[in-house]
Amino acid sequence: MKTDVLIVGAGPVGLSLALELAHHGVRSVVVERRARGDVVTVRCNHISSRSMEFFRRHGLADRVRQTGLPSDYPQDVSYRTATTGVELSRIRIAARGDRFSDRDTGVDADWPTAEPPHRMNQIYLEPLMIDAALARPEITLLFQHDMLDFVQDDSGVTARIAAGTGADITVESQFLVGCDGGASRVRKAIGGRLDGDAVIQRVQSTYLRAPGLIDAMQVPPCWCMFSLNPRRSGNIYSIDGKELWLVHNYLRDSEPEFASVDRDACIREIFGVGADFDYEILNIEDWFGRRLVADKLRDGRVFIAGDAAHLWVPYAGYGMNAGIADAFNLGWILGAVIAGWGGERLLDAYVAERGPITEQVSRFAMDHCMKMAAQRSAVPANLEDPTPEGEAARARMGRETYDLNVQQYCAAGLNYGYFYDKSPVIAADDAQPPGYTMAHYTPSTVPGCRVPHFFLDDGRSLYDAFGTGYALLRLDPSVEVAGFVAAAAAIGMPLAVLDIAPKGAVGALYAHPLVLVRPDQHVAWRGDASDADAEGIIRHVAGYQNKII
Ligand SMILES: Cc1cc2nc3c(=O)[nH]c(=O)nc-3n(C[C@H](O)[C@H](O)[C@H](O)COP(=O)(O)OP(=O)(O)OC[C@H]3O[C@@H](n4cnc5c(N)ncnc54)[C@H](O)[C@@H]3O)c2cc1C
Repeated sequence: MKTDVLIVGAGPVGLSLALELAHHGVRSVVVERRARGDVVTVRCNHISSRSMEFFRRHGLADRVRQTGLPSDYPQDVSYRTATTGVELSRIRIAARGDRFSDRDTGVDADWPTAEPPHRMNQIYLEPLMIDAALARPEITLLFQHDMLDFVQDDSGVTARIAAGTGADITVESQFLVGCDGGASRVRKAIGGRLDGDAVIQRVQSTYLRAPGLIDAMQVPPCWCMFSLNPRRSGNIYSIDGKELWLVHNYLRDSEPEFASVDRDACIREIFGVGADFDYEILNIEDWFGRRLVADKLRDGRVFIAGDAAHLWVPYAGYGMNAGIADAFNLGWILGAVIAGWGGERLLDAYVAERGPITEQVSRFAMDHCMKMAAQRSAVPANLEDPTPEGEAARARMGRETYDLNVQQYCAAGLNYGYFYDKSPVIAADDAQPPGYTMAHYTPSTVPGCRVPHFFLDDGRSLYDAFGTGYALLRLDPSVEVAGFVAAAAAIGMPLAVLDIAPKGAVGALYAHPLVLVRPDQHVAWRGDASDADAEGIIRHVAGYQNKII
């Protein structure tokens, strides 16, 4: 079997990559060890705004947003003495049905995007993505196929694959991408090693059915509820808004063994219920929180992405979402090279761009993990006391939990703040990209940043107006762009020229007459046509030459 790209693993990252490649007309074969319909365990509960922007690009965002919790179920995060205990504070987040009508509720309500974040579990997302992949003629999805090994040479990669029901098959491709999860065989085969902090947290996770839990609560339920009390702290996510819950029990430093911790007793403490409360365990997945980043993301024609490339505590919901960002980046790069308009330097860009971001996000997540562990271990003994002192302790704990965690649950910085300042295919200028934190960022057209989003006069999202390739945004219609158009045409690079007129604060961000935007919505170059070497810029951003501008 022959294809353009062999993708190992049909998790969210492998499927995202296949979709992005298909967007560029590139064929892929995705091999997946699991059988179709094998249920993934409940894991990621949050689709970031950036991932939703990616799904919008693929016409999937509406379907994703219509899935998950009931449309009126609060997507808030609540801090309580127990799930059924007293509420300490609540981070407001609009229910999915109100996302576009309620622009007042919550810190993320007015984010500059057509696609705010969405809360739903990976068990609902993956089937949607599989259906979307199956609908694309460019994608061949092979379930119960296990990639065993591969060899590569200058012209391509040949992989040996065990087909569940028959003889081994061979797939020949131009590139191979390992989206094969934390235990990645591809990473090991290219000599990659995970470096970092091996175990920074141990979590007993239990997926369970508890139909009586909502009725036992003192305050309305919501998407995520943290229990903080001196006996046992943990948190639960609502999976279906009714009776299905994912419970995370954070083990203490004094509890190094999963087996030594009484799962049932802990779940009852987290819920705040007695021995007579009924629940049914559906699945358990105990896991180590790590901060591990691969020291090698590429070897020749072979790349790794997603959990294969990085594993960290999924604070701020940036495990799967960081992997989808990898796929967005690598997808258009491979798409451009295979389609024939991208040069060799584009391939170098993946490592130069995603490597530093992976390192940064892993540190944000670990830092937050440590702060939360400190907060859990400092729960005052009188937190539940019905006394004025207990009341004061609850008020203080409520403020502290809110202030710490609003950063991770409304992480604008992680969504929009990262930039590619070490890229060989971005034409930097004298300005430095603005710094960002987990929660905050400064929108900017500095090359490398996500291009500031706004709605066009006809109501469309700016990003909806981009084609599959580059977009040249022109702020002044009198500016001559024929040189750029001709240079792009000469190498076959798709380039859409868009006349835009952003107003108000966002207009002030667009201070240059021209802004060149990549397929992944990051700025590649900005400037004025009069003194620009249009051909040099186009060849630089397409990965053909090192153009110092
Ligand atoms: C309890 C828990 C909670 C989490 N919560 C969040 C969260 O809130 N937010 C967040 O962003 N992330 C979260 N994550 C992380 C998130 O689930 C992962 O980052 C995400 O699944 C990674 O996607 P992936 O496609 O890279 O890898 P995976 O989902 O692991 O998919 C890899 C696929 O490759 C297949 N495969 C492996 N080897 C082969 C082979 N040789 N041949 C063929 N197929 C192969 C596997 O069967 C698998 O389907 C959580 C994880 C856990 C454990």
